[in-house]
Amino acid sequence: MRLIITEKNNSAQKIAEILSGGAATENKSFTVPVFKWSDSDGDHSVLGTGGHFVQRQFPEGKEYKQWKLDLIHGLVDAELETGPIDGKKNVIKAVQKEAKAADSLVIGTDFDREGELIGLEALEVCLQVNPDLEKDFKRARYSALTKEEIEGAFSNLTELSYPLANAAGARQDIDLIWGAAFTRAVSLIAKAYGANFLSVGRVQSPTLGLIVERELERRAHVYKPYWELYAKFEHPSGSSFETHHATDKFWDKAEADTALAATADPGVVKSVTSRKNTSKPPTPYNTNSFQVDASSRLGITPKQAMNYAQDLYDDGFISYPRTDNTIYPDSLPLEKTIQSLVKIKDFAAAAHLLDAPLTPTQGKKFDAAHPPIYPTHALYPSALDGPKARVYELIVRRFLATFSKPMITESTRADIEAGGETYFVRGKVVLDPGYAGIYTYARSSDEEIPALEEGQKLSLDGKPWLVDKETQPPARLSEAKLVQIMDEQGLGTKATRPDIIQKLYSRKYVRNHPPEPTATGMAMYEAFKEYVPDMATSEMTATLEGEMDQIAEGKDMTKETVVEDSRKLVHSTFDKLREGEEEVSKMVWAGMDKDRILGPCIVCKEAGRVQEDGSPNMLRIIRAKKSGKSFVGCSGWKPDDPEACDQTFPMPQPNFYEVTPLEENCSICHRTPRVNVKTRGRAGRPWKLCFNDDCPTMIEMREKKAERLAAQEAKKKMEELDGKKKKTTAKGKKKKAAPKKKKTTTVAASKRSSGEPDLGTRRVKRAGGRTSPGNTKK
Ligand SMILES: [Zn+2]
Ligand SMILES: [Zn+2]
Repeated sequence: MRLIITEKNNSAQKIAEILSGGAATENKSFTVPVFKWSDSDGDHSVLGTGGHFVQRQFPEGKEYKQWKLDLIHGLVDAELETGPIDGKKNVIKAVQKEAKAADSLVIGTDFDREGELIGLEALEVCLQVNPDLEKDFKRARYSALTKEEIEGAFSNLTELSYPLANAAGARQDIDLIWGAAFTRAVSLIAKAYGANFLSVGRVQSPTLGLIVERELERRAHVYKPYWELYAKFEHPSGSSFETHHATDKFWDKAEADTALAATADPGVVKSVTSRKNTSKPPTPYNTNSFQVDASSRLGITPKQAMNYAQDLYDDGFISYPRTDNTIYPDSLPLEKTIQSLVKIKDFAAAAHLLDAPLTPTQGKKFDAAHPPIYPTHALYPSALDGPKARVYELIVRRFLATFSKPMITESTRADIEAGGETYFVRGKVVLDPGYAGIYTYARSSDEEIPALEEGQKLSLDGKPWLVDKETQPPARLSEAKLVQIMDEQGLGTKATRPDIIQKLYSRKYVRNHPPEPTATGMAMYEAFKEYVPDMATSEMTATLEGEMDQIAEGKDMTKETVVEDSRKLVHSTFDKLREGEEEVSKMVWAGMDKDRILGPCIVCKEAGRVQEDGSPNMLRIIRAKKSGKSFVGCSGWKPDDPEACDQTFPMPQPNFYEVTPLEENCSICHRTPRVNVKTRGRAGRPWKLCFNDDCPTMIEMREKKAERLAAQEAKKKMEELDGKKKKTTAKGKKKKAAPKKKKTTTVAASKRSSGEPDLGTRRVKRAGGRTSPGNTKK
């Protein structure tokens, strides 16, 4: 029997369908689907591993489990082992069961470093039970799940590439060692325990640095006022139009006032100039340009863009989305692809491309492994779900654009002199949309200006006017921009970048979109930059990426030397961290402390109570030492002072809920801060929580909850009645069914899904009030 191992179940099914001509049947082995068929070559089995199913891990033993600073050096030098990934032992069993019966093996995992490594892992798992396969294993490499590609790959089987697999393996080992050592070290130093540990990653920390550096620039920005001068002129056609003074910005108000006063009727058109602009069609998509473009054109994150692209690839609609290539290889069936695409009404505007020889644009990067991302199957986008449809459409339109003509626009500028002051107006019209006809995202709307001639006299329409403005700080980096900079600086790989950004969100180093660093994120980066710069900047990690490239290319570097070098680096970096231990701890602590503050305590404000330094008392998240539970309390509280503020509020526990600040002071009731709450590890929108129980938003939320519960109760009664009826009809047939048990699960489940957690009662006390939290209402 020939065993074929793929990366995903979906690709296993597609490959079986194509190679068997539809004859393959699905069987289950330890719950893993295995596709089987027989033909003149014998029996065939295909199964997908669902990505990695074994992982690199530290050996068993207390010295590797315990989080202690003294154990870090030993952890770094530990000999890593390979073990099963939790919940995937069944995959190993299924693979080995098939391998035992196999006399040949084909590795058909994704064609990139990670796929090569998964292939190598699969091979090793197979050889454990059937060493004979060593003599007969091959590699199938394909870039799309289409008939041509798959048949081509299986009739030209190649060898597994150890350099490629080892490059991915080196990354796995290095990231495991680096992440474990510094996550433990920094968490221990900053005393951030349990669920609040501080994750530190080789690529993650310099990426955080990009975001923080921009934030620091924004904070350092000095707002500088300036003035812009505008005037309106009447046009013989009856309409009037707006013009801007030739001086872009007046930095001096007096100068602007002088220019305004000097502006006088009539305006005389001094010059009208036009210029044609040619904008070249875009180059084929590789992963990076796709992530950046999808993110900015469709308003989704690079991570979402990659997820949708992966789905589209698994469905056989686009080619492999992880590629560096921006040049179509000669082997691609370009004409055939365009022919089938333009049959779809949405893309019919590109049909004219087939009238002339195809001359696609090309980018700078070539990679023989994969073609640029292109559509492998023509279909109506409306056949796909919302965002997936838009991503597919973007890929098709971009593909068609790369064969299209440039876009030609004409911009016109007219200068008008009025009493010695010059004003101008600018317009832009599209003469030939070219590629923007199909790549509609690039098309800008025309800004037409009225027809003007030199020497023409125009009267002012009303008085000119000044607009006062101020310089703005540089914008925060969008996720698309971040991915682009990471690419330029060699941070991460095309496959890992979106996940790294995601991690910054889940560890609460950044929040909002575009990402904005939290106080913890800022403090951590600033502490690293000062005391352990290797962890903060991109140089070191970019060097490592370069070394991994060398492993992949089969040059002098081996996996062992690169991992060993990086171990040395971890040791020395860790020593440096310990030298600055006290300072790093203080800085990170201060950041985490700042992030706990939710907003000012209104009760203290009303009572005139302030902190020793005169700053207002703040409500902040506190973790009770004894119970470990979190609650909200006032910084004005003092254990022995009966007059001090004792405001406290229960809150959703951080172990189960993500709590992020929304408003320092509720915009509805103005009594307490408001936060967003989201159940951990579950999709769905967060709900807004005001700590003031009497806030109209909370009253409304309780009423809605009561309505929901009443509706559920009614439904449950109905079901019970229904159940009784059934029971009477089924009487005597069997022993008792257990409808009662269902009752409790329904209630528990409904409580969970109803959104807001049970928080007890929160009341805002007026100044002087002395009720304790959890008391019932008046
Ligand atoms: Zn207070
Ligand atoms: Zn409120």
